[in-house]
Amino acid sequence: MNNIASTTIDPSAPRKAYRKIIMITFPSEVSGSPMVCNLTRLYDLSVNILRASITPRRDGFMTVELFGDEEKFHEAISYLKGLGIKISTPDQSISRDEDSCMQCGMCIAICPSEALRLDINTRRVIFDMERCAACGMCTRVCPVKAMHIVVEQ
Ligand code: SF4
Ligand code: SF4
Repeated sequence: MNNIASTTIDPSAPRKAYRKIIMITFPSEVSGSPMVCNLTRLYDLSVNILRASITPRRDGFMTVELFGDEEKFHEAISYLKGLGIKISTPDQSISRDEDSCMQCGMCIAICPSEALRLDINTRRVIFDMERCAACGMCTRVCPVKAMHIVVEQ
Protein backbone atom coordinates (compact mmCIF):
# COMPACT_ATOMS: atom_id res chain seq x y z
CA MET A 1 0.00 0.00 0.00
CA ASN A 2 1.41 3.35 -0.99
CA ASN A 3 2.26 6.18 1.37
CA ILE A 4 1.29 4.43 4.57
CA ALA A 5 4.19 3.28 6.67
CA SER A 6 3.85 0.40 9.07
CA THR A 7 5.71 -0.51 12.21
CA THR A 8 5.30 -3.94 13.66
CA ILE A 9 4.98 -4.76 17.32
CA ASP A 10 8.25 -6.09 18.65
CA PRO A 11 7.50 -9.02 20.99
CA SER A 12 10.73 -8.35 22.88
CA ALA A 13 9.88 -4.70 23.51
CA PRO A 14 9.31 -3.62 27.13
CA ARG A 15 5.77 -4.23 28.24
CA LYS A 16 3.50 -1.21 28.16
CA ALA A 17 0.06 -0.70 29.51
CA TYR A 18 -2.59 -0.69 26.84
CA ARG A 19 -3.51 -2.54 23.70
CA LYS A 20 -6.43 -1.80 21.44
CA ILE A 21 -7.65 -2.63 17.97
CA ILE A 22 -9.33 0.21 16.09
CA MET A 23 -10.77 0.67 12.62
CA ILE A 24 -9.78 3.79 10.72
CA THR A 25 -11.64 5.26 7.78
CA PHE A 26 -9.75 8.12 6.22
CA PRO A 27 -10.49 10.62 3.44
CA SER A 28 -8.32 10.98 0.36
CA GLU A 29 -6.76 14.21 1.68
CA VAL A 30 -4.85 12.32 4.37
CA SER A 31 -4.02 9.11 2.50
CA GLY A 32 -0.54 10.44 1.78
CA SER A 33 0.10 11.81 5.25
CA PRO A 34 2.43 10.08 7.73
CA MET A 35 -0.41 9.44 10.16
CA VAL A 36 0.71 5.94 11.07
CA CYS A 37 4.32 7.02 11.56
CA ASN A 38 3.09 9.84 13.74
CA LEU A 39 1.32 7.44 16.06
CA THR A 40 4.75 6.08 16.89
CA ARG A 41 6.74 9.30 16.61
CA LEU A 42 4.37 11.60 18.50
CA TYR A 43 2.62 9.19 20.84
CA ASP A 44 5.12 6.38 21.30
CA LEU A 45 2.61 3.77 20.20
CA SER A 46 3.49 0.52 18.51
CA VAL A 47 1.32 0.04 15.45
CA ASN A 48 0.43 -3.23 13.83
CA ILE A 49 -1.60 -2.91 10.63
CA LEU A 50 -3.92 -5.89 10.45
CA ARG A 51 -5.78 -4.89 7.32
CA ALA A 52 -5.64 -1.97 4.91
CA SER A 53 -7.12 -0.88 1.64
CA ILE A 54 -7.27 2.26 -0.46
CA THR A 55 -9.88 2.94 -3.10
CA PRO A 56 -9.03 4.41 -6.52
CA ARG A 57 -10.27 7.74 -5.13
CA ARG A 58 -7.54 7.48 -2.45
CA ASP A 59 -9.82 7.25 0.55
CA GLY A 60 -9.25 4.16 2.59
CA PHE A 61 -9.74 1.87 5.49
CA MET A 62 -7.41 0.26 8.00
CA THR A 63 -7.70 -2.02 10.97
CA VAL A 64 -4.76 -1.41 13.29
CA GLU A 65 -3.64 -2.71 16.63
CA LEU A 66 -2.17 -0.03 18.88
CA PHE A 67 0.00 -0.75 21.84
CA GLY A 68 1.39 1.67 24.40
CA ASP A 69 0.42 4.04 27.17
CA GLU A 70 -3.35 4.45 27.58
CA GLU A 71 -3.20 8.24 27.95
CA LYS A 72 -1.09 8.50 24.81
CA PHE A 73 -3.53 6.22 23.05
CA HIS A 74 -6.39 8.63 23.71
CA GLU A 75 -4.25 11.59 22.63
CA ALA A 76 -3.47 9.74 19.41
CA ILE A 77 -7.15 9.11 18.79
CA SER A 78 -7.80 12.84 19.16
CA TYR A 79 -4.98 13.50 16.72
CA LEU A 80 -6.48 11.15 14.15
CA LYS A 81 -9.95 12.62 14.56
CA GLY A 82 -8.44 16.08 14.07
CA LEU A 83 -7.27 14.93 10.65
CA GLY A 84 -10.84 14.09 9.71
CA ILE A 85 -10.35 10.38 10.25
CA LYS A 86 -13.24 8.31 11.51
CA ILE A 87 -12.42 5.89 14.30
CA SER A 88 -14.47 2.93 15.36
CA THR A 89 -13.76 0.03 17.62
CA PRO A 90 -14.52 -3.46 16.44
CA ASP A 91 -16.29 -5.72 18.79
CA GLN A 92 -13.49 -7.66 20.38
CA SER A 93 -13.19 -10.13 23.13
CA ILE A 94 -10.53 -12.28 24.67
CA SER A 95 -10.50 -16.01 24.36
CA ARG A 96 -8.31 -18.60 26.03
CA ASP A 97 -7.24 -21.82 24.41
CA GLU A 98 -7.70 -24.14 27.34
CA ASP A 99 -5.62 -26.87 25.73
CA SER A 100 -2.64 -24.57 25.27
CA CYS A 101 -2.72 -22.97 28.72
CA MET A 102 -0.01 -24.49 30.86
CA GLN A 103 -1.21 -22.82 34.09
CA CYS A 104 1.99 -20.82 34.51
CA GLY A 105 0.14 -17.89 36.06
CA MET A 106 2.11 -15.18 34.24
CA CYS A 107 -1.09 -13.51 33.10
CA ILE A 108 -2.52 -13.09 36.60
CA ALA A 109 -0.36 -10.20 37.79
CA ILE A 110 -0.81 -8.26 34.57
CA CYS A 111 -4.62 -8.42 34.49
CA PRO A 112 -6.10 -5.06 35.61
CA SER A 113 -9.60 -6.39 36.16
CA GLU A 114 -8.82 -9.57 38.10
CA ALA A 115 -10.36 -11.63 35.33
CA LEU A 116 -7.47 -14.03 35.75
CA ARG A 117 -6.85 -15.57 39.14
CA LEU A 118 -5.45 -18.65 40.74
CA ASP A 119 -7.79 -21.23 42.19
CA ILE A 120 -5.83 -22.21 45.27
CA ASN A 121 -7.61 -25.53 45.52
CA THR A 122 -6.91 -26.77 42.04
CA ARG A 123 -3.80 -24.61 41.39
CA ARG A 124 -5.32 -23.75 38.05
CA VAL A 125 -5.65 -20.29 36.51
CA ILE A 126 -9.27 -19.27 36.19
CA PHE A 127 -10.32 -16.98 33.35
CA ASP A 128 -13.52 -15.07 34.14
CA MET A 129 -14.77 -13.63 30.87
CA GLU A 130 -17.40 -11.57 32.66
CA ARG A 131 -14.69 -9.53 34.36
CA CYS A 132 -12.46 -9.26 31.30
CA ALA A 133 -12.04 -5.71 29.98
CA ALA A 134 -10.53 -6.99 26.70
CA CYS A 135 -7.46 -4.80 27.19
CA GLY A 136 -5.31 -7.49 25.59
CA MET A 137 -2.47 -7.25 28.07
CA CYS A 138 -2.53 -10.96 28.89
CA THR A 139 -2.04 -11.77 25.20
CA ARG A 140 1.27 -9.96 25.46
CA VAL A 141 2.70 -12.02 28.27
CA CYS A 142 1.28 -15.48 27.68
CA PRO A 143 4.27 -17.61 26.65
CA VAL A 144 2.20 -20.09 24.68
CA LYS A 145 -0.26 -17.60 23.13
CA ALA A 146 -3.18 -19.24 24.89
CA MET A 147 -4.81 -15.84 25.38
CA HIS A 148 -5.82 -14.18 22.15
CA ILE A 149 -7.96 -11.35 20.85
CA VAL A 150 -11.06 -12.29 18.92
CA VAL A 151 -12.24 -9.52 16.58
CA GLU A 152 -15.83 -9.68 15.40
CA GLN A 153 -16.05 -9.06 11.67
S1 SF4 B 1 -7.67 -8.99 28.26
FE1 SF4 B 1 -9.04 -9.48 29.97
S2 SF4 B 1 -8.07 -11.23 30.97
FE2 SF4 B 1 -6.51 -10.29 29.67
S3 SF4 B 1 -5.41 -8.84 30.98
FE3 SF4 B 1 -7.04 -7.68 29.99
S4 SF4 B 1 -8.79 -7.75 31.39
FE4 SF4 B 1 -7.34 -9.37 32.03
S1 SF4 C 1 0.04 -16.83 30.82
FE1 SF4 C 1 -0.94 -18.17 29.29
S2 SF4 C 1 -0.21 -20.22 29.78
FE2 SF4 C 1 0.19 -18.96 31.58
S3 SF4 C 1 -1.64 -19.22 32.87
FE3 SF4 C 1 -1.99 -17.40 31.63
S4 SF4 C 1 -3.12 -18.19 29.84
FE4 SF4 C 1 -2.18 -19.95 30.82
